[in-house]
Amino acid sequence: MKIDLNKLTIKTAHDHLKDGDFTSVELTRGYLDVIAKKNKDINAYLEVFDDALEAAKKADIKLDKIRNSKSEIRDKSEMPNQNFELLGIPCAIKDNILIKGKIASSASKILEDYHATYNATVISKLGKEGAIFLGRTNMDEFAMGASTENSAYGVTRNPHDLERVPGGSSGGSAASVAMNGSLFALGSDTGGSIRQPASFCGIVGLKPTYGAVSRYGLMAMASSLDHIGPLTKTVTDSEIVFNAIRGKDVKDGTSIDQSTYPKMRIGKKKPIIGVPRDFLGQGGIDPETIRAFNVAVEAFKAKGYEVKDIVLPNIAYSIATYYIIVPAEVSANMARFDGVRYGLHVDGKNGIEDYFETRRAGLGREVIRRILLGAYVLSSGYYDAYYNRATAVRRMISDDFRKAFESVDVILTPTTTGPAFKIGSKTTDPVAMYLEDIFTSPADLTGIPAMSIPAGTIRKDGKDLPIGIQLLARHGDEATLFEAGKDFLGES
Ligand code: GLN
Repeated sequence: MKIDLNKLTIKTAHDHLKDGDFTSVELTRGYLDVIAKKNKDINAYLEVFDDALEAAKKADIKLDKIRNSKSEIRDKSEMPNQNFELLGIPCAIKDNILIKGKIASSASKILEDYHATYNATVISKLGKEGAIFLGRTNMDEFAMGASTENSAYGVTRNPHDLERVPGGSSGGSAASVAMNGSLFALGSDTGGSIRQPASFCGIVGLKPTYGAVSRYGLMAMASSLDHIGPLTKTVTDSEIVFNAIRGKDVKDGTSIDQSTYPKMRIGKKKPIIGVPRDFLGQGGIDPETIRAFNVAVEAFKAKGYEVKDIVLPNIAYSIATYYIIVPAEVSANMARFDGVRYGLHVDGKNGIEDYFETRRAGLGREVIRRILLGAYVLSSGYYDAYYNRATAVRRMISDDFRKAFESVDVILTPTTTGPAFKIGSKTTDPVAMYLEDIFTSPADLTGIPAMSIPAGTIRKDGKDLPIGIQLLARHGDEATLFEAGKDFLGES
């Protein structure tokens, strides 16, 4: 059977693999061919793994066994769990998630030759499910950025318009899915880095509840806001990947079983949707994007959803709060790159100079900017004025959401203030780049789950550029996001 990668989803690929319409080797080859053709222009992948076909062969053997055994002789220890929906499915992994034996550089010079010594929990889980790792994807250095322009290895281009960014920091992961160079990808999201690139690339991006997916083996950026999640073509696929990677993990003390959160659903038949109208007037949002958003709101209403206006009084302070707390945590997490323990080492005159020289040579401007800002807001004279205040405001923002979720089940916002912007248009203005996170950072600050789904396109310079809407729910309530998202996109 001829494989049409354009139309393929995890679900349909799984059905075909199960029925023997094609093999995982054929499927994997299909993706490798696309990557060989498109990656020089798009630069989604920093490296394509040479053992992907080998892994696909093994998956085919397991698929054969399952097909022939009709369930009785399944050796549980070497077989995937669940419905083996990811067995033989090719995927891409962001370069800040560790795969044992492979380079993990976080798109930084300081880790150019660093080989991971263990698997991240998400990698162990996907490996057990039999997913095929195609390669590692480009990103903003250490996940700091919103355009993938902060990579030490060149920008990634948006498959919908090569002059535009794919978003960031998980831009390579989003572009790999959008260019049909993988069937799904993992990204990380600290302020919007899964959802914003998903929106720019016309795909689905899920940031799960904080702790629902183990962070073990994810390079830390800001530990109290870091999340791993899937980038997929459909909401159904997002749910499949989420179910495969979630769960409490003894190796991450902040991980939880998200299904243990109490169920507090209000809407009887369909979830009730809240729209924070006041908030949407802020942040210089593009009028076309507001129009696309309003069309989406009407579409929900037409499907029988009750939609209410809500207020989130302190949400306007999210960006200011985020850009104090994040640099503070960044400055602490980056201290480990000292030229001794990992990666690059540059000799200075003495030990302390080794440290300075290594960091000067190995770290990019944005990373250095955040280390400086973070050290400043944590310094004894300013700790109370900045860091302490920011943590108090963070709590107030959480309270706003808690109150809002007393009368609605889902909150709906645009994902971004506009479609993908031109490469280079924001690189000299860090504040403009930081404002990219206006709609996405609140979910990271509070830990609630949030998902970006495609909501049509906007025409700019003769190109149809995708735009996304964001759905947010209570802690642990990914189920409602999947339900509303599938309904909106007409997925059965
Ligand atoms: N743009 C945000 C930042 O630069 C988000 C990054 C992220 O989510 N990793 O901090």
